[in-house]
Amino acid sequence: MIKYALACEQAHEFESWFPSSEAFEEQRKRGFVTCPFCNSTEVDKQIMAPSVARTDKLPAAQPEAQPMAVLTDKEQEIRAALRALREQVLKNSEDVGKNFVEEARKMHFGETEERSIHGEADFEEARALLEEGIDVLPIPVVPDDRN
Ligand SMILES: [Zn+2]
Repeated sequence: MIKYALACEQAHEFESWFPSSEAFEEQRKRGFVTCPFCNSTEVDKQIMAPSVARTDKLPAAQPEAQPMAVLTDKEQEIRAALRALREQVLKNSEDVGKNFVEEARKMHFGETEERSIHGEADFEEARALLEEGIDVLPIPVVPDDRN
């Protein structure tokens, strides 16, 4: 037996038992299912909203993954070498900050004296400089140097 929540065309709501869903459909088509309030045969199953409380929890927010590495002694050496290179570059070149791209171009076109400079350029700017034949190098970022 199946209990159906039913409603007629006038939205009278009632419940009724049927041997099966097929039996319900058969009886409904034949007009045997009638509204107890108005005797209408225009009856259909109620559209039910889920009455069960949702218990499924949203997955906990995952912290954003960071690239990580476990370094061997050899890699520690490389990292130290990178840090030394970086320090040397920073120590022996003029910090032109955000004017880096402009200064690099000026030097390239002989508008200012040739010298070692370092400063800020985003990836696109650096690529543009390289395309113009201006040699720029990214200064290696050593993990410890972040933050
Ligand atoms: Zn009715």
